[in-house]
Amino acid sequence: MGISSVKSDVLIVGGGLSGLKAALTITELAPEKKLVIADLGGCASTEVMGLCAPMDSKDSVDCFVEDTMRAGNGENDPALVRRLCSDAKDIAKSLESDGIKFDRKCDGSYDMLRSLGSSFHRVVHYKTVTGKAAIEKYRTELKKCPQVEFRKSRIVKLFVKGGRIAGALGFENGGAVAYSVPGVILTTGGAAGLYGFSTWTKSLQGSGYALALDAGVELTGMKRVQFEPCVTVYPEKFRGFPIITTMLFEGAKLIDSRGREVLKPGVSMPAKRGLAELITAAVADGGDCGHGGVWFDFSGVEESIFKSKYPEYYKKLRPVSADYKNLRVEVKPAAHTTLGGIKISSDASTSLPGLFAAGEACGGIHGRDRIGGNAGLEIFVFGRAAGISAAAYKASNQDIGAECETFLKNIPEGDGSAMAILKGIGELLDTYAGVHRSEAGIAKCAEGLKNLKIKLENNPPAKKEDFLICLNALSTAEQLAQIAD
Ligand SMILES: Cc1cc2nc3c(=O)[nH]c(=O)nc-3n(C[C@H](O)[C@H](O)[C@H](O)COP(=O)(O)OP(=O)(O)OC[C@H]3O[C@@H](n4cnc5c(N)ncnc54)[C@H](O)[C@@H]3O)c2cc1C
Repeated sequence: MGISSVKSDVLIVGGGLSGLKAALTITELAPEKKLVIADLGGCASTEVMGLCAPMDSKDSVDCFVEDTMRAGNGENDPALVRRLCSDAKDIAKSLESDGIKFDRKCDGSYDMLRSLGSSFHRVVHYKTVTGKAAIEKYRTELKKCPQVEFRKSRIVKLFVKGGRIAGALGFENGGAVAYSVPGVILTTGGAAGLYGFSTWTKSLQGSGYALALDAGVELTGMKRVQFEPCVTVYPEKFRGFPIITTMLFEGAKLIDSRGREVLKPGVSMPAKRGLAELITAAVADGGDCGHGGVWFDFSGVEESIFKSKYPEYYKKLRPVSADYKNLRVEVKPAAHTTLGGIKISSDASTSLPGLFAAGEACGGIHGRDRIGGNAGLEIFVFGRAAGISAAAYKASNQDIGAECETFLKNIPEGDGSAMAILKGIGELLDTYAGVHRSEAGIAKCAEGLKNLKIKLENNPPAKKEDFLICLNALSTAEQLAQIAD
């Protein structure tokens, strides 16, 4: 098999906002460095509605740290949380100077939303499309830089030589590409796409976790997957569409099949995890509204507020019922963001020299649960940190062409189905590694994953790329399928 060769200074794997922020930072701090951004498309960053920043005059970095640690049940890495919260205002201001003008109220103050688990209204946003707007800006900027190359390439393996990163193997239009680079930043996003029912596309299969693990880098907190509590299961047309939980502060209600409120009046609103648990428990307790979920009833939200504050949601969902009083959709929790990930320090470096990670690919920031808007913040804070570290990192280029060739020679080929393996993984994770997990279920999941691996090895797909996709997916799924209280 012919392998084409690319030499560069830094390879950024993933073109979501953490990757783009890292790239922009490198172009500013080390414009002499050549960068390649390898990306498959379908990033979650387009969905970021807003990000947390303590802009309220009564709010503070300390309060923000406390909220984040409390939501994470103290499982978070305090140094990462401190960095996240301390950099938040600066990141928000820098986004504004980049042209992302956050919505403001008539009095000129920020029109912030309040996430579950937050003591203050803290989510600044540009309409509901902060992520999309930032991506557009950043891509436009980066395309002007001659030292930056965008490639539609899937990275399947990292190579380590002399105790440091030496490069990566990718596939592009079916052909293998050897990237000989001294610096790699993993910004591959989360693993929600491995689940059958998830909020995101199948291109987010957590490959960065498998790549890092295979290169000898530790992962942290992988049992912590965040389930978006309110994801539409019915009407079928909107299956997979997440409903923003801040609407529960505006008068929307969750109602089970017997008309009982899932969130009892007067009880304070839990963070996302707690809400997902309540919905799952209500369904298990006989409250299933027909498709495994409960009703998200919008009728308590004043229609004018719904229309003005959530225009995209309003436009999409208002036609569901002719009568606003009956406007509701059925929702249930879906795999959303991966809270664990690659272990990093607060400068986004990993234990392997030359390897950095940012965004949803890394772990330790959110602990047990994530506050809404903290992922939107994390991608900018740690994307920038990874860019600063990679810009300062100095190491010579090592050629990995021969290593790639030897590696690929040993990858088997057959006529098996990669789709069947990935579907099998999705079913196992949905069934056993969801909101509620049991020892017995996790054991069944592990057994199922082991059988899928045997199936893959006994009858590999026709393409080596597909074999490696499945192998990485199985490795990540094994990490996700752990018992979690
Ligand atoms: C529906 C939805 C709504 C959300 N809303 C919010 C919100 O309002 N606020 C908030 O804080 N968070 C939100 N989140 C979470 C947030 O969007 C993500 O955590 C964040 O965008 C992740 O950014 P990232 O740059 O780390 O990864 P992504 O933006 O997901 O980018 C990862 C990129 O890596 C590429 N990639 C993956 N593997 C490979 C590989 N092997 N080779 C090459 N490329 C690869 C993918 O193609 C993708 O383009 C939301 C998530 C979803 C799914």
